[in-house]
Order: sequence, then C-alpha cells, then structure tokens
Amino acid sequence: MRVVIDRERCQGAGMCVLTAPAVFDQSEEDGRVVVLDPEPAPALEAAVARAAQLCPNGVISLLGGSAASSAGAPTG
Ligand code: SF4
Repeated sequence: MRVVIDRERCQGAGMCVLTAPAVFDQSEEDGRVVVLDPEPAPALEAAVARAAQLCPNGVISLLGGSAASSAGAPTG
C-alpha cells in the first residue's frame, strides 16, 4: 500500500491523525496533513484505510498492493 495525499484540499480537521497517528501528522506551520510513513506496514493498513474513509475532504488516496503491483485500484 502506498499513501498519496492531495494536500491542497486538506482542512486540517485531524481525523487522519487521530485514526492513524503512526502514519499521519499535522504540520505545525499550516495545520495540514503530513505523511510520516508513505508505505505503511501491513499491520497499519486497516487504520490507514479507515483514515482515508473518515477524511471529510477525500485528501487521502491509497494505491493498492506492494511495489510489485501496478494494477491496484485506488479505494475510497
Ligand atoms: S482528515 Fe483529511 S482534511 Fe483532516 S487533516 Fe487529515 S487529510 Fe486533512
């Protein structure tokens, strides 16, 4: 799984940080999301997927599979 964000759309609501604090943080400068771990371990994928669902602005996209998979469909 690879995490991609559209930072321009982020409102800094912080749902992602609350849901997956190992992967997301908020910038101290503008309050917008920062990805700490763009390729989270499998153990974190459920939390990351939930964060993507909960984000009110659709900022977070998840690209499926490992680096070897190029056909994964984005979810959410
Ligand atoms: S939940 Fe979405 S809008 Fe809120 S901080 Fe995270 S990425 Fe930004």
